[in-house]
Amino acid sequence: MAPRTHRRKKVAASDYQAVLEGIAARVREQPNRGKVATYIPALARIPKTKFAMVVKCVDGREAAVGDADELFSMQSLSKVFTLVMALRQAGAGLWHRVGREPSGNRFNSLVQLEYEQGVPRNPFINAGAHVITDCIVSHDAAGKQSILNEVRRLSGNAAIQFDLEVARSEREHGHLNAAIAHFLKAHGKLRSDVDEVLDAYFHQCSIALSCRDLARAGSFLANGGIDVTTKDRITTARRAKRINALMMTCGLYDAVGSFAFRVGIPAKSGVGGGILGIIPGLLTVAVWSPGLDANGNSDAGVRALELFTTKIGRSVF
Ligand code: GLN
Repeated sequence: MAPRTHRRKKVAASDYQAVLEGIAARVREQPNRGKVATYIPALARIPKTKFAMVVKCVDGREAAVGDADELFSMQSLSKVFTLVMALRQAGAGLWHRVGREPSGNRFNSLVQLEYEQGVPRNPFINAGAHVITDCIVSHDAAGKQSILNEVRRLSGNAAIQFDLEVARSEREHGHLNAAIAHFLKAHGKLRSDVDEVLDAYFHQCSIALSCRDLARAGSFLANGGIDVTTKDRITTARRAKRINALMMTCGLYDAVGSFAFRVGIPAKSGVGGGILGIIPGLLTVAVWSPGLDANGNSDAGVRALELFTTKIGRSVF
């Protein structure tokens, strides 16, 4: 008798389309979709009813539903792409400057940084992201423009821009980020000027892209470091694995445990309401809905991803 295997049936592109449509219908029925971030006033105006979801498979197939081509603010999703760039520039030495453990605190908390003398817990909390951005601006005179170019290259969309109003709004209300950056500087953990790091950080967060752009931009993480469309090597397979591991353990701040429990895939969120999820070897899935839960993650986005991994019967577990 042939041994029993656990080989899974391949999900056809048309099936992904049907799955996404089913999820969008469920989300539409749900009246309560969290609260739009108000601490960055320029984000507070986005209607909570917006919803988009896009799947990009490693074989190039794509499925999309909702406001898939509407632009939204990347916010902390940018931290995945700056991490890739900083690893390219600084190599493994980067890990002397930033840790790899979940924080169990809010993304903009200062508490842990004080205990740990300015070595941020991981690259996805704000303190860690400032160290990563410092690495980029101190290696590369083009700084924030290089970050924008990287997002354009990975999404295959040269029209992607900074949203200067969001960047300005964030600078005006960015006292916590400024406090974090000055604290890092006081501990000798930033090489560049605090203002230069903050300026690049606020700009990277302000990048406006669509859900479709996001699903494409993350495709290398599902594909061993190789961009699905261009076949360019973006990072090594080993780094892609490690970035996925960091997303799994640190990508949703102090909600990583419940996200792993409910959804079961590496993912990164942003307060613009976007989430990028990765099923290594299979696909990326991007979702956007601007209403946030108490942890600062898209409320309907998390729910949609939970439905997605449940319906297709795939996760990393
Ligand atoms: N720009 C935001 C901030 O620094 C990013 C936070 C986020 O998306 N979690 O506060």
